[in-house]
Amino acid sequence: MKYELVILGSGESGTGAALLAKQRGIAVFVSDMGVIPEKYKRELDSNQIPYEESKHTEDFILGAKEIIKSPGIPEKAPMIKKIRANNIPLMSEIEFAYRYKGESKIVCITGSNGKTTTTTLTYEIFKHAGYDVSVVGNIGYSFARQIAIQPTAWYIMEISSFQLDDLFTFRPDIAVITNITPDHLDRYEYDFNLYVKAKFNIAKFQTANDFLIICKDDKASIQYLETNKQNPKILFFTMNEQLNTDGAYMNQNELILRTNGEPFSISINDLSLKGKHNQYNSMAAGISSRVAEVRNESIRECLKNFKSIEHRMEPVASIRGVEFINDSKATNLNSVWYALESMKKPTVLILGGVDKGNDYSEIADLIKEKVKAIVCLGIDNTAIHTAFDSMVPVVDTNSTDEAVRKAYEFASNGDCVLLSPACASFDLFKNYEDRGEQFKNSVRAL
Ligand code: ADP
Repeated sequence: MKYELVILGSGESGTGAALLAKQRGIAVFVSDMGVIPEKYKRELDSNQIPYEESKHTEDFILGAKEIIKSPGIPEKAPMIKKIRANNIPLMSEIEFAYRYKGESKIVCITGSNGKTTTTTLTYEIFKHAGYDVSVVGNIGYSFARQIAIQPTAWYIMEISSFQLDDLFTFRPDIAVITNITPDHLDRYEYDFNLYVKAKFNIAKFQTANDFLIICKDDKASIQYLETNKQNPKILFFTMNEQLNTDGAYMNQNELILRTNGEPFSISINDLSLKGKHNQYNSMAAGISSRVAEVRNESIRECLKNFKSIEHRMEPVASIRGVEFINDSKATNLNSVWYALESMKKPTVLILGGVDKGNDYSEIADLIKEKVKAIVCLGIDNTAIHTAFDSMVPVVDTNSTDEAVRKAYEFASNGDCVLLSPACASFDLFKNYEDRGEQFKNSVRAL
């Protein structure tokens, strides 16, 4: 049996691509080295899409005209090496779906931190303004599935750097890089420059009519731009200077969004998402929306009324004057830095998990300034003790119940308990969502 298209991996993006391919009359086959989740199997079955799990049948795969690779499969996987050796075109789900997007337009957001917040803000603004819009990629449906089920005039897309590999034509009308700090370097031969380059793949096929929105305060982005000329129009957002070009910047307490030479301002006191990091995210979402000609009032109303997103500086409860905040999504130090920066009250910080090589000195000043005590929530907390034992009390716990109880003991009326772990969660939890849920349950059980 020969298949025109083989899809490796059957998560949301693989299954979405299979549905789209089937709908467009392509003979498609899904192959997964692992077990395919039940819900995707049911979908493949009901759409008569053939698949295999726990194996890769080489004849099917190497006989295909084209192959789609799920972003989770690393380049060093033996099957990928064989496909490369046989020169079979290998693309990402994003690239495949892009063929079928028609006249629709795309705002595509990537970066090390702030992707989900910026994407959600942008989507809410477009929706509020009455645009025919969907949110796709890491949140919502995969791009391919959305096109198969319900195409829209605009797609607001969140993608991580792995999804920016294996693109050949994908051209967002508006691309955003929120910032670039070291993360996932294991996928990039521990070479930060390769990671930066991967992020800039977002703009690789953009033309002079497209926009690339970049944080001017982000060293890595600016350094890359100095030596790599880009085709699209570049708009900056910054807090460090007042731009005299289009872009986003601050003027005292006003956030200014400027397009076609026309400034539009919003008081930062009106922004519903607090903290410097969210001012950056609001700038990026706001300027993208203005470029897409969204009405100013929609931008203002959404930035004013936006509710926080689950697991990202999410207020949980206030118990006898102690506020609890769930920032479980903060899996690196950069995120924790911004979380602490935004704290206005004395803070008990819950920190720890699987450390990706953190240099805790990066947050030492903020710990001294704002943190009363650190509660470790992880199996190996040595690095945290080494960094902070001399500054504040540091205690060990290994469940959210215990961590919340200890943190509550340290806190007084008017303080805040912040879960912002700086680490991945795989030692004690399924994932960051599970960690955040358990934290919230423990708080509510107090
Ligand atoms: P991502 O989708 O890139 O992981 P999120 O929007 O989900 O980013 O935010 C994850 C965490 O990162 C937040 O809880 C917050 O602590 C931090 N964060 C959010 N935006 C930024 C930013 N612009 N710069 C640095 N840290 C940020």
